[in-house]
Amino acid sequence: MKIFKFGGASIKDAEGVKNVASIIKNEGAKDTLVVISAMGKITNAFEEVVDAYFTKSDELPNKLTFIEEYHKNIMSSLFDKEDAVYRDVDILFGELGWFLARNASQRYNYVYDQIICFGELLSSRIVSAYLSKMGTENSWFDVRNYIKTDSNYRDAKVDWELTEAIIIKKVDATKINITQGFIAANDTENTTTLGREGSDYTAGIFAYCLDAESVTIWKDVEGVLNADPRVFTDTTLLAQISYEEAIEMAFYGASVIHPKTLQPLQKKEIPLLVRSFLNPKETGTKVSKGASLVPYIPCFIVKKNQILISISALDFSFMVENNISYIFQKLHDYQLKVNLIQNSAISFSVCIDNKFNKFEDFYNELKAQFKIEVQNEVDLYTVRHFDTKAIAIIEEKGVSLLTQINKETSQIVVKPN
Ligand code: ADP
Ligand code: ASP
Ligand code: MG
Repeated sequence: MKIFKFGGASIKDAEGVKNVASIIKNEGAKDTLVVISAMGKITNAFEEVVDAYFTKSDELPNKLTFIEEYHKNIMSSLFDKEDAVYRDVDILFGELGWFLARNASQRYNYVYDQIICFGELLSSRIVSAYLSKMGTENSWFDVRNYIKTDSNYRDAKVDWELTEAIIIKKVDATKINITQGFIAANDTENTTTLGREGSDYTAGIFAYCLDAESVTIWKDVEGVLNADPRVFTDTTLLAQISYEEAIEMAFYGASVIHPKTLQPLQKKEIPLLVRSFLNPKETGTKVSKGASLVPYIPCFIVKKNQILISISALDFSFMVENNISYIFQKLHDYQLKVNLIQNSAISFSVCIDNKFNKFEDFYNELKAQFKIEVQNEVDLYTVRHFDTKAIAIIEEKGVSLLTQINKETSQIVVKPN
């Protein structure tokens, strides 16, 4: 069985849906499981709905209308008015309205997941219906009945044993299956999510459980490049890389592959293909066991909008185990993701991602005991297989605040120009 994953960019409009349908028809005739993300930037639009709901903003109805019109507009180019998909989509909007009207919970992350899931439910319904209309028979299913997680809303952990048992039992490997990425459910049937951009990971979960022959993630780039094309010009396609290389790149922030995707694939030696939905004839990148980096060149990864903090004790004590472990506990408590650590005798620097906007609370709690210097809006560059020319390219991006060099990897925190 093959697993395909299509992200938001591939289905951002009606032309995109048509293109995806033709790729599925040409490349995934049968025994394919297709994982679909929300259309375009719809997950961001749903995040605005969640915020408007919690702040009781007057804008809430407009935000919902925008989402409904976005989907209906795409549908009008794909379907006839009497097609059953309109009923399915209206049922979904009805369920969403029902939730918003009835919900009494003030737990932000729980509510977030119950709302955000509609992006994937809508898009997968639309893609499935369009495939059927074009004569490609397929079977749509609700992934929440397959992937089971704990109740850590917005960043749920997969219950592998249960998920594997259900997937093996329920997936019909002889069909084209269409389902959603990113979303799942806990043991009380509430919706959970696997973390933003988590649809690649969903593809990895199905591949692992089904012993798939390959996973293809279809992207708006040729494949994995040696640098993010939004930040660097002159990028080169990496035709093949090992799991280890891809894991390192994804871990440091090459957003083309979600970092959690690779480990399940590596365990079962299932190749990951990264291909372009704009150019489906090309082979893209193959990530597989033992593959050497081809071509062997420096690879650049950037994480933007980081916070660099330098912490020292107010009582001039050394930064050693006891205060470092205390700081790490607090970083964990405030869900601040640490991307780089550097330690000296009296100060301890970390570059962090303020993904859940809790930095201020963290800062306020620690400032009584520590002196904390903060540099906001810095970028963290990571260069794998670096040489002096590669480092010079980064140094042109702004003022280097901190550099860390290991054997294969150099990391530089830069205050951008
Ligand atoms: P999806 O549509 O599946 O959500 P993403 O937008 O998350 O896809 O990932 C594709 C994007 O990743 C590309 O458009 C590109 O800007 C970015 N990207 C970052 N680093 C790399 C890299 N090393 N190679 C290719 N693309 C990269
Ligand atoms: N739609 C989700 C997001 O935008 C999941 C994904 O696209 O991978 O984060
Ligand atoms: Mg994405």
